[in-house]
This record gives sequence, C-alpha cells and structure tokens, in this order.
Amino acid sequence: MTTPAIRIPFTGPLPPAIIVPQSARTIAGAVDAVSAFFTAPPSLHLRGIDVGRNTQTVLLTGAGISVASGLSDYRGDQGTYRRNKSYRPIYFHEFTTRHESRKRYWARSFVGWPGLVKAKPNSTHWAIRDLGAKGYISSVVTQNVDSFHSLAHPELSTLELHGYLRSVVCTSCRNQFSRQEFQDSLERLNPAWAEFLARMVDAGALNTDNPEEQRRKGLKLNPDGDVDLAEAPYSTFRYPSCPTCLEKPPILKDGTLGHVEVEPDGAWLPSSTAGILKPAVIMFGENIDPAVKIAAEEAIDDAGRLLVLGSSLATYSAWRLVERAYRRGMPIGIINVGGVRNEALLFSQVGSGVEGSNFGAHVRCSHPAQAILPTVVSGLSRNHL
Ligand SMILES: [Zn+2]
Repeated sequence: MTTPAIRIPFTGPLPPAIIVPQSARTIAGAVDAVSAFFTAPPSLHLRGIDVGRNTQTVLLTGAGISVASGLSDYRGDQGTYRRNKSYRPIYFHEFTTRHESRKRYWARSFVGWPGLVKAKPNSTHWAIRDLGAKGYISSVVTQNVDSFHSLAHPELSTLELHGYLRSVVCTSCRNQFSRQEFQDSLERLNPAWAEFLARMVDAGALNTDNPEEQRRKGLKLNPDGDVDLAEAPYSTFRYPSCPTCLEKPPILKDGTLGHVEVEPDGAWLPSSTAGILKPAVIMFGENIDPAVKIAAEEAIDDAGRLLVLGSSLATYSAWRLVERAYRRGMPIGIINVGGVRNEALLFSQVGSGVEGSNFGAHVRCSHPAQAILPTVVSGLSRNHL
C-alpha cells in the first residue's frame, strides 16, 4: 500500500549548482566525468533489492532537455518562472470544477498545439537512444509530457510520470482520445479562433517564444500568457464532450447516472454532470496514477545508478525518486543548468573530497544535456553486462 502522490509545484528559491568533480565546470571535463559515471564499477554501497552487478543507469528527465526542441522550460536558472512572473499553471480542481477555467485552458492549449506538433526530439533524445543501444540505460522516467522519448527510442522502456499531451482523457469514463482529433473538434466549434490560428501559423508567430516578435506578427498575449482576441474572447471558447459518455451516460462516483448535454454542434454544456475531457497529463494538485508511481520506484530499484537530465527536481514526485536512489546508496549524476532542489544533501559529502578513487561515483554539472551526452555516447564502447 502506498500513499497517493499528488503533483505539487515547488516555489522556493533554488541553491546555486554544486559542481562535482571540479573539472566538470568545463564541457570537456563534464564529458569525461559523465563517461566515467556510466562506466564506473557497480557501487559497493548499493542497498535494497538484489541488483547483482547492475551497472545500468536509470534516467530521470525534465523540461530542460526539451528546450533545445523549442519548448519552453518552466523555470530559469533562479527557479522562477521564465516567461512571465504572474503565470500560474492550472490546478486539477479548478479544471474539473470550473467551466470558465476549462474554456481558458483549452483556448490557450488550442493556440499552443501547432507549435507542439511541429516540435521534434533533439540531440539529447537521440543520444539517449544510442546509450540504450549500447547497453547503458535500464529505463527512462520522464516528467515531460511531450512524448519525445517514445518517439526517439521506442525500444527503450519509458515511463511518463506526469502523463502526456498526445491524448485527452475523460474524467468520467477514463477513455482516451487523440489530442489531434480533439484539436480538429476545437477548430470546428470555434471558427473565429481557427481563422486566427491559421493566420498566426502563416505569419510564423508561433515559431518564436519571444513576446516582442510575437507581438510584431500579430499575436498579443496578456500578462497571464493568454491570447487577446478582441472579436472572440476566451470566455466564449467552446469544447466538445466525451463521445462515449454522450452516447452512454456514465455512472458517477456517488452511484447515480450522469448526464451529458451538448449544443447541436457538440459543444459541452455546463448543465452536464459528466463527459468532461482533460489533457492526459497529471495537473498540479492531481494524483499520479498509483501504478505509474510504483513502476517509477521499481525503475529506480532495478538500476545501479541514477542520472538526472534537465530537471531542477522542483516537483515532489521527481525529488522523491532521487531521494529513494540516494537512500539506496546509488551513485547519482545530475546534468542541469542552474540549481537543483536539495542538491547540498546529495553532493555535500562528495563535493569537497579528493578526486581519484571516487571519480565516477557522482557527477554534477551545470551544462545543457545536449552539450554533453552526444559526445559521451560517441566515445563509449558497448556495455557488456
Ligand atoms: Zn467519457
């Protein structure tokens, strides 16, 4: 029996990066240190489930590795929200209880979708594929919802801790549907927005994250990051109901029969008590699927070491996995630009020590993963398990 894991944001300031070993300050030094990390003999301190001579590494990845694909990171070096300070992600209870919040969420998501579809895995994902092919990776646990891992290396086991944007899920019947088809429905239900979006795509306004450039190309965002559309404010935005629940009303949690009401063209009506579609991501304030939580813990337990890529471990669910690895005596590596939650706890023991016999046991550098991993993997020979 495990306690539910609720996804909650961490808002405290992050400490400056602790660099281990000192030589990892430079790119060349970090490449050497990460190579040594992957090839070091199994830790003598490993406790817990019998992992034998496991030398394989489990990866924990976060938003930092998708920045090179053009997706913006939540946080900058200082741990504050990068794009605008007033931005606050939607919480699960707001989404499920408030029609107004959903309109706003889907309007924003509608405009953001073409950019996400266009974005592709980058050199970090390809390096992970190659590391997997050479036998260094046991599995990947990701906080990212962009599906780049499964696109880049379908043969490597990947666990999506916070779900994925490629699907929407019904909050009543739990059926999942394609997000692309959902986008087509949104287009049909919101012609003024569809026309606007087509114009923005043509103007290239969605190819940039720079607010100045976006404004010049006709995309105006209000301080909360929402689109300002004078002729169709987002309060008029419409979204479809779950097709399954519309056809066959679901039984609600209290045992009563739910009902789904829609406008003639299929737009969900607030007089409904069911059939609300939600992105298949774990929102803040939402429980992580217990099966996924357990599988992530098993992924940690099955590996001989843990490497964190592009995450400040700001969400508790991610930090908890690292803490688990730390308690098991697993060597821990972190490649992340800027500070990481609780890193003094992880690295204070090893940071001041003399390098040498300890070299390869831990690594911490503050470089982008794409500056390190591709070089590391090209220099490694096959890992003979
Ligand atoms: Zn449904």
